[in-house]
Amino acid sequence: MAELVKATPPEDVSQWKDVMVYCETFQNKLTKAAQEMIGRGRVMADKTKTKLIGVVIGSDISDTAKEAGYYGCDRVIAFQSSAFDMYKSRPFTDNLTAAVKEAKPNILIVPGTHNGRDLAARTAIRVQSGLTADCMEIDVEEDTGILIARRPDYGDSTMSEIRCEKHRPQMATSRPGTFEVPPRDDKRKFKVDLREVKVKKGQIKEEILSFKPRSGEDISIAKVVVAGGLGMGKPEGLKLLEELANELGGVVGVSRPIADLGWISRSHQVGQTGITVRPNLYIAAGISGKPQHMVGMANSKLIVSINTDPDAEMNKNADYVIVDDLYNVIPALIEEIRKRKGAENVEVAPKKKKKA
Ligand SMILES: Cc1cc2nc3c(=O)[nH]c(=O)nc-3n(C[C@H](O)[C@H](O)[C@H](O)COP(=O)(O)OP(=O)(O)OC[C@H]3O[C@@H](n4cnc5c(N)ncnc54)[C@H](O)[C@@H]3O)c2cc1C
Repeated sequence: MAELVKATPPEDVSQWKDVMVYCETFQNKLTKAAQEMIGRGRVMADKTKTKLIGVVIGSDISDTAKEAGYYGCDRVIAFQSSAFDMYKSRPFTDNLTAAVKEAKPNILIVPGTHNGRDLAARTAIRVQSGLTADCMEIDVEEDTGILIARRPDYGDSTMSEIRCEKHRPQMATSRPGTFEVPPRDDKRKFKVDLREVKVKKGQIKEEILSFKPRSGEDISIAKVVVAGGLGMGKPEGLKLLEELANELGGVVGVSRPIADLGWISRSHQVGQTGITVRPNLYIAAGISGKPQHMVGMANSKLIVSINTDPDAEMNKNADYVIVDDLYNVIPALIEEIRKRKGAENVEVAPKKKKKA
């Protein structure tokens, strides 16, 4: 049985200064989630007048390490081995842990992707620190360097602020879409420390046998999301949403009960247990606005709520509210958009008759 060991804080936390960001890659390219976290790390390093250190792990990453610099890192530690062509829990944890022990960052932030969550949790154990996962906000106190990590708690009824004052590094993850991608600047000055890692035969226990990319659109990067909830009442409602999404060059999103009902795949679910989106336009049709849904779309630039209930929670967070049946509103929107685009002879789903 594993031994229970009490985590020991470092004797002198003032030795731990900089901000470190794990720059996640996929097929040796920085993920968007990594770019977002570099942007957030840059803000925190500037606030505390410290450096931003990026850690990149992959099989062919000399150019990727430079990308991490162009997005905002001052120094990039890159671990390269042909064995790191895909994410593998143990060797990636070994290398990130080594970077932490060497550079002693005050803060370590990791993208809250599937792999990032695995890596952050494992690394927190190895470096004997705490981890605040799935933060909605990550910031730092300028004078103390204390990480301010805020996340929803108790079924999202409260927002907790979690501080880790004794242990280092102070660690947090945030879901993709929580922060904006910073501008890329290929004139930035930074240092890259590329290390070839020798991996002995048998040292890596995991073997990826095959890889199946997720099918369908990636709603996390969509500029327009037309989302439907239980207010649709029937799966046919999704066809209407899809029509509107097509007209607007967007994608369809749903609340969790719609994915639970199996009307559409889980990859369209927005929210706490789904995907975080940050579109320019989020249309919420027949969605009440429960906190578990709101956490996944609250950072949308413009929110339009279509709801029969004028007091729906979603309406309080929306920029525009249309109090009506979505089966009246959406066909009218489609018709108007097509009229403005100059399309002719197009059939729009028949309007639902209003009850007398
Ligand atoms: C641990 C946990 C995690 C969860 N994770 C998620 C998550 O990731 N994402 C998520 O979405 N939920 C999640 N939920 C579920 C969440 O709590 C809500 O139950 C869910 O978001 C409600 O979905 P809804 O808004 O579609 O349905 P409802 O709350 O039933 O709302 C339907 C709305 O449609 C309106 N309406 C009805 N008819 C019409 C019509 N014809 N036209 C226009 N409006 C109409 C109603 O007025 C109402 O506001 C989670 C719950 C838990 C406990």
